Amino acid sequence: MKPAPFFYHRPETVAEAIDALSRLDDAKLLAGGQSLMPMMNFRYATPANVVDLNRVPELAGIAEDGDALVIGAMTRQREIKESPLVATRCPLLAEALHHVGHVQTRNRGTIGGSLAHLDPAAELPGVLLAHDAVLEVRGSDGTRPVPMSQWTLGYMTPALEPDELLVRVRIPSWPPGHGFGFSEVARRHGDFAMAGAGVLVQMDGDSIRRCSIALVGVDDGPVRIDAAEALLTGNRPTPDRLDAAAQEAHAVPGIEDVHASAAYRRKIAAVVTRRALERALERTGSGASLP
Ligand code: FAD
Repeated sequence: MKPAPFFYHRPETVAEAIDALSRLDDAKLLAGGQSLMPMMNFRYATPANVVDLNRVPELAGIAEDGDALVIGAMTRQREIKESPLVATRCPLLAEALHHVGHVQTRNRGTIGGSLAHLDPAAELPGVLLAHDAVLEVRGSDGTRPVPMSQWTLGYMTPALEPDELLVRVRIPSWPPGHGFGFSEVARRHGDFAMAGAGVLVQMDGDSIRRCSIALVGVDDGPVRIDAAEALLTGNRPTPDRLDAAAQEAHAVPGIEDVHASAAYRRKIAAVVTRRALERALERTGSGASLP
């Protein structure tokens, strides 16, 4: 299949891209094209105007800013996966990227495209939710921060106005020595996950001082399992307590589609939560291993 006819626009600055979005009716932004182009080729998306961001240099890059990592929306997934800065400041992001598509798609795909496309099973939105990231959105009315917890408005519906684009994401780092783990079940490597879990853990002696557990593939967007986090925080990670925390994944809605029933997704969610918790605990700097 080939896309329906469209007008192509190639801004060179964010301001020009916003101006194009404000002026044009029915416009879609093009980043890595790894989701938009298949959607257009299958005619699921037939925008009259395509605004190409690939020549807007200010939208790419990885930098430290105090206790956070700042990543431009047009930064390629491969660059993030291979970045020494990401490996140090946000290892969960680097680990999750192993599961995002394939080398070929990661060469072109961007973090901004993944967040804006917002497939329910996309790993990167889950990692950013686990980190309580803040997304910087800019439009004709100026710039506004959107906490990742407020990004998903519904199925594949990010908190973006028609004349806005995602400029960068700000990911607060966890202290050195924190534990991290990402686990998912997909039919084949590189497929979208049927359920996935991203976990962060910080220890205080042999107790958990703080933890964050985000699931993907089980609701319209990524979800945190607050009840599981509450169960674990301030306590020793005994096997029974880890089991109980993982079982909290059964409380998430679970979405139904041709790939898996909601009940099956919830079951997988509990399994991947337990796996990701174990992996995170094994990696805590305190050397806390499972009792
Ligand atoms: P594009 O496809 O260019 O755009 C996607 C959407 O985001 C469009 O609606 C576009 O208008 C919008 N957009 C892009 N940039 C911005 C911006 N800065 N501001 C506002 N809106 C913007 N993804 C996963 O998470 N996990 C997987 O396992 C996975 N497997 C894949 C397997 C294959 C074979 C393929 C082809 C893709 C797969 N993907 C997977 C999707 C891939 O990660 C895409 O790169 C990603 O979903 C979209 O990023 P992109 O840069 O290609 O965006």
